Parts: sequence; C-alpha cells; structure tokens
Amino acid sequence: MELRDKLAILADAAKYDASCASSGTNARDSRGGRGIGSTEGMGICHSYAPDGRCISLLKILLTNHCQYDCLYCVNRASSNVPRARLRAHEVVQLTLDFYRRNCIEGLFLSSGIVKSPDHTMEQVVEVARSLREDHDFRGYIHLKTIPDASPELIARAGLYADRLSINVEMPTTEGLRSLAPEKDESAIRRSMARLRLQIDATREERRRMVPIRALPGAPAVAAKPQPFAPAGQSTQMIVGADATDDRRILATSATLYGAYRLRRVYYSAFSPIPDAARALPLVAPPLMREHRLYQADWLMRFYGFEHQEIVPAADGLLRLDVDPKMAWALAHAERFPVDLNRAPREMLLRVPGLGVTAVERLLQARRVRRLRADDLRALRVPTRKVLPFVVADGHRPAAGDANRVARLAAAAPRQASLF
Ligand code: SF4
Repeated sequence: MELRDKLAILADAAKYDASCASSGTNARDSRGGRGIGSTEGMGICHSYAPDGRCISLLKILLTNHCQYDCLYCVNRASSNVPRARLRAHEVVQLTLDFYRRNCIEGLFLSSGIVKSPDHTMEQVVEVARSLREDHDFRGYIHLKTIPDASPELIARAGLYADRLSINVEMPTTEGLRSLAPEKDESAIRRSMARLRLQIDATREERRRMVPIRALPGAPAVAAKPQPFAPAGQSTQMIVGADATDDRRILATSATLYGAYRLRRVYYSAFSPIPDAARALPLVAPPLMREHRLYQADWLMRFYGFEHQEIVPAADGLLRLDVDPKMAWALAHAERFPVDLNRAPREMLLRVPGLGVTAVERLLQARRVRRLRADDLRALRVPTRKVLPFVVADGHRPAAGDANRVARLAAAAPRQASLF
C-alpha cells in the first residue's frame, strides 16, 4: 500500500480522538539552525477534520489494526474498515516532512493494539525517540499511552513526549465494562497514578534547581532533570455512548483532576460508527452537549464551582439553551444582584459574563475608586449579560432583567449538529 493511502486511512481513524490540544509545554525553538521545530505556535497551519474539529498537529494512528473490540470504536477488531499500518520510521519521516512544509506544529500519535500492549507501546516510543534523538525535533509530541503496557515503557515515553494521555474512555466503571470489556479500569488508574508521581517528581526537581542557578556565580549542583511530559497528562471521555448523565460525567472529571492532577479532561461526543453494536445509540448527542461540558469543566477548574452545584437539574443534564454559569445564576436568584464594589472575588467569578481577567481588573480598580457600569464597558465584558446580575454606583438592575437576558441568550443561533 502506498504511504499516501496509509496516511489517508490512519489520519481518518484518528479523528475521533479529541485530546490533542498542545498547551502547557516548555518553550523550545530551532532558531540559530539548532534542530527542527518549535512549540511556540510558529508556522502552524490549522486544518479541519471532516467532523469539524480543528487539527494543528499531524494526528495519526500508527495502526488501526486492533486486537481489542471496544464497541464504540471504529477500529475495533470486528469493525469492517480498511486497515493500514505505518512503520516507526515512516511516521518520523511524515512528521518531519509536514513540519518542513509548515503544515503542523507537532505530532499526536496513538495506535490500535497489535500483538501486545508492550509491542505497540515500543513502536510508539520509538517514533518519539527517533524524532528527538536522531533528528533533534523540537516540536510538540503528544503520545497516547497504552495503560496495559509496562511501566518502564510508559516512563520512556515521558522522556520524549510533551504530553502523555491515557483515555478513561467511559465516565463510569459500568460503562467501561459493558462497552469495552477488555479494558481494565484499575490498570488505567494505576498508570495515571504512576504518571502523576513521575510528573510531580520531575517538576519538584526542576523547581529545586532554579534558586541554585539563580544565585550569581553559583554552579547548578543538582543533576539535569530528565524531561517528563512537561505538558502533563490528559484523558478523554466519550459522551453519549451510554446513558451516563452530565452530573456523573463531571463527578468523574472532578475525581480525575483531584487524584491524578490531569491537565485536561477532553469530552468527545460519541460519533455513530458503521456496523455499530446494538448497545450503542443510533444518533450522536448534540455537539452543544460537548460544548456545555467543556464550559462546566472550565467552571470547576477556574471559577471555584463544585461539580455537584453545576448540574442541579433532576435529569442530571446541563441546559443546552444557556451556558452553565448563566443556568446557575438563574437558579440562584437569591444570590444576585452582586455588588461590584463589595462582593468577594468568589462571588464576582459567579456573575455571568465576568471572566477571571475581568474580575482581577475590577478588584484592582475598586481599591482606588468606586466602580460604575461604565467600568464594565471599558473592560469590554458583555454588559448586556453582566448588568442584570450586578449593582454598581449609578446602576441597579430592574426585576426580571436576568430572565430577559437569559431568554435572549437562549434565542441566539445555536451550533448545528454535524450528524
Ligand atoms: S483499544 Fe483503542 S483502538 Fe482498540 S478497539 Fe479499543 S478504543 Fe479502539
């Protein structure tokens, strides 16, 4: 099979994986003719997969052959799809070629499982090793690791990759058991825990080295730390392949963030696949549900919301018509309006339309003067959304303003489903 045909099959097979953002790694570049690649967003061409996702990495599978039979996966052993397999050196060459053509900023590599988890993981690690050691590649590398592979192999992956990820796949133990019975939840959690320890240990080692180097004239006494996934670890959950509701999904995310210090949890709306098992739904969940989960996830990580309070609805689902922060504010009318001049940071963060940066600026400004509605306009926050929920000098919202703005928000054009 021609390389071009293999690439078409393996890039298409990888499009269902959403966890490929390249944030958070160390800054590297190849200025001065040293090496190839950069992690600083230079020379990137974004492209869009057929399902609408933005791709800025060469995102491929090493192979879409797989001995496992996860029901939701288009690459499962029983799936009737064209198969292909790339050798490690072919992936290396493709990555370098695409980078030189300014098409990508790095590589996202995953794989179906062939022969054994260790055999597959060895090939995946070899790609990253060769890029870094043989070609001095300085671009971004994200490796999807195989939880059943040996800890030594996963540790080697961390020497070359910016980010490692292990997919939990389903939000619940029952869901994983029924749709991916060959996957071992405890192996997934064990691997995540090991990664967390290695990432934490490397960060701590780096942190300790800085002050020693910072002293004028003092030599660095600690050994140079081994790179270990500086962009951390992430995971992905499939949404809508079973009946798990948003409340449970967010509870799982909260546990994953807390226990394994994940950098990101990605939510991937289930895509119906050819010849699907009967246990799977025939239609995809609305993409808006995926979007609302990302917004709710953001509230947990940056806005001080607990996962339990974000989804109060009896059916356990996030509202699709308004964003989760607006939904919370409408459900807690007794907490509003919030006084911009007196409210604590935690409460300002709960005002619809106020982001973290805007809140910090308001807190700084009110140290020296009283705030007015015009201060919000100067910050370029969406005042139509904010003003019904706040009081400031010269401004007090009328009764019913909040509901009016929510109705307007709900009537705004919605993202269309691609399915
Ligand atoms: S192990 Fe991965 S590639 Fe194989 S069937 Fe399961 S989800 Fe698909």
